[in-house]
Amino acid sequence: MSPPGSRAWTPGERLVGRVASWDGDDRGPASDAPVVGVLALQGDVLEHLRALHRCGAQAIRVRTPADLARVHGLVVPGGESTTIGRLLERFGLMGPVRGRIVAGLPTFGTCAGMIVLSRELDQEFDQPRLATLGVRTRRNAFGRQVSSFDVSLDVKGIDGGPMDVAFIRAPWVTQVLDDDVDVWAEVDGHPVVVAQRAMLATSFHPEITGDDRLHAWFVEQVRAAA
Ligand code: GLN
Repeated sequence: MSPPGSRAWTPGERLVGRVASWDGDDRGPASDAPVVGVLALQGDVLEHLRALHRCGAQAIRVRTPADLARVHGLVVPGGESTTIGRLLERFGLMGPVRGRIVAGLPTFGTCAGMIVLSRELDQEFDQPRLATLGVRTRRNAFGRQVSSFDVSLDVKGIDGGPMDVAFIRAPWVTQVLDDDVDVWAEVDGHPVVVAQRAMLATSFHPEITGDDRLHAWFVEQVRAAA
């Protein structure tokens, strides 16, 4: 199911030729730039590193508790939420990452990252996750891979008109569980951007369409909190 006004596209078309290399590690634009980590266990890590770098952050991969200790903010990328959750456990990061988030670490989850952050899931079986965000989420809510789509979306708190974003086997929020969860955008009445305390989560991938406004907003939050 794709909403009216959206554009369907072929799976994989976007990422072709875009995963070559990243040389921005540990070279932020300024020495006082906030250090923003991207959880780099599986998924769309490189495009987030680049977007954060463009927004003035020192962007680093997070694979170990030592990496985690360096960051002032964290992105949990899209990918496969079951795999990311299992690898969080295997790499000894589940407890440390959850602890930092609960203590107020600014955290931005996209697509699978939203699922990994969600406290509840709309499915029979359980899967390991951080479970810090007060929402219930349904995986693959828009349908199968073929129903991946781009859409222009108004996002509360983001100035300058609608954002161009990509939904790829995306989840949506089926229930808001806490009073302090703020819904920033919906598609067909389903929340697809939610914020709670220092956490922000999107159903879509904001990192692959070149519209950096959510990353810029996030980097400013990290800068203010650091
Ligand atoms: N469908 C994936 C999952 O359930 C998420 C897809 C994505 O991150 N693009 O984890």
